[in-house]
Amino acid sequence: MTQADCLFCRIVAGEIPSNQVAETEISLAFRDINPVAPQHVLVIPKRHVADSLADLDDPWVLADLVQLAREVAKGDEFAGGWRLVTNIGADGGQTVPHLHLHLLGGRKMKWPPG
Ligand code: 5GP
Ligand code: ZN
Repeated sequence: MTQADCLFCRIVAGEIPSNQVAETEISLAFRDINPVAPQHVLVIPKRHVADSLADLDDPWVLADLVQLAREVAKGDEFAGGWRLVTNIGADGGQTVPHLHLHLLGGRKMKWPPG
């Protein structure tokens, strides 16, 4: 499932360039264009299976996303720790309606988040 007007579907299709970090058959990891931490990687399903975690039908997709994030986080840049976040809807701060995880690292994270 690909949505022609979806930013992340267009990144998967190569229509919009991205700085790719890693991938599985199901998932793609690439650097966020507007990083909020020294390390900021987005992990998305290659297929547009859901707008957000709230409407995901197949939990195995989430398992693959988390596993890929864990693999990326094995890099030295994440040695101090990291955070895995998914924003859902307007109140959650979501701006791109294609399921994605934010892998953040390279600095001490604040808690609670803003
Ligand atoms: P959200 O706000 O939906 O949780 O996360 C969307 C993320 O996508 C934001 O952190 C934003 O910086 C990132 N983003 C938006 N447009 C692009 C783009 O064209 N390329 C990349 N690599 N990231 C993008
Ligand atoms: Zn999409």
